[in-house]
Amino acid sequence: MQPYLGNPTYTAAVLRNHHISARKKYGQNFLIDSDVLEDTVRAAEIGPDDVVLEIGPGIGTLTQYLASAARKVVAVEIDRSLQDVLADTLSGWKNVEILWDDILKVDISALAAHENAASPIKVAANLPYYITTPILLKLLESGAPIESITVMVQKEVADRMEAGPGTKDYGALSLAVQYAAKVDIVRIVYPSSFMPQPGVDSAVVKLSLYDAPPVACRDRGLLFSIIRGSFNQRRKKLVNGIAGAAGVPYTKEEAEAAVRACGFRPDVRGEMLTLEEFARLADALGEKT
Ligand code: SAM
Repeated sequence: MQPYLGNPTYTAAVLRNHHISARKKYGQNFLIDSDVLEDTVRAAEIGPDDVVLEIGPGIGTLTQYLASAARKVVAVEIDRSLQDVLADTLSGWKNVEILWDDILKVDISALAAHENAASPIKVAANLPYYITTPILLKLLESGAPIESITVMVQKEVADRMEAGPGTKDYGALSLAVQYAAKVDIVRIVYPSSFMPQPGVDSAVVKLSLYDAPPVACRDRGLLFSIIRGSFNQRRKKLVNGIAGAAGVPYTKEEAEAAVRACGFRPDVRGEMLTLEEFARLADALGEKT
């Protein structure tokens, strides 16, 4: 079995021996800190029955730790120039399958059905930061059976996922994530844990997906159109942000009536509303149809 990659010496040797360097355009920052890797696998609660979807195995660092704990790891990697290095670093782990593809093009539901019948899979990754939000929204909105998503993201993105009303970090991402999952920041990770070092602090975040949304709302599409409209016009009154926004086919008067019916101040801004209040507003507006 190959040695574990989670240290600077062996990572540098693997890169050198395979004549590769980290590709910035794919957000490649390889983990070199075994504590962070172990904490990630522990937080993800990976066990011998689990099928894990890893996004972006890179040179196989986190993959080795996941494969040692899981029944199977399916790892989706866009950069085909890593084929030889992964064949080398993962040669000791027979329970890993690499899919050479763009994760944004993969049918997650089909993958989960194929790999684990109807049972939920777990997702784990040190995400490429240039597409963190599209990947998370895709996973959360896929409807695929996913139990949890444990991922490295920029600390700033972790703060946005966890944020509540009235804070500067609160926005559409906070609400999309909190509608789908319980959010826990597992730990902060500093640039020195990566090779090369990113220019920002990072955090491991665990999203534990709900079986059913934490708030009731008749029209989920309208709810998220209202949320997007309200944060696109963050500095405006809520009614001005949402009336006529994409997916919100209501006039300003109708928006004002719905805001009143919910008991909110007429000049309320979206950034002050909780998820439950946005859901009530969507139901009040939806009653007009
Ligand atoms: N897992 C490795 C580690 O922890 O050291 C590498 C993580 S690196 C931050 C992100 C990885 O995602 C890279 O291997 C990169 O090539 C891959 N990647 C970037 N865009 C991708 C995409 N659209 N689909 C799949 N993988 C992608």
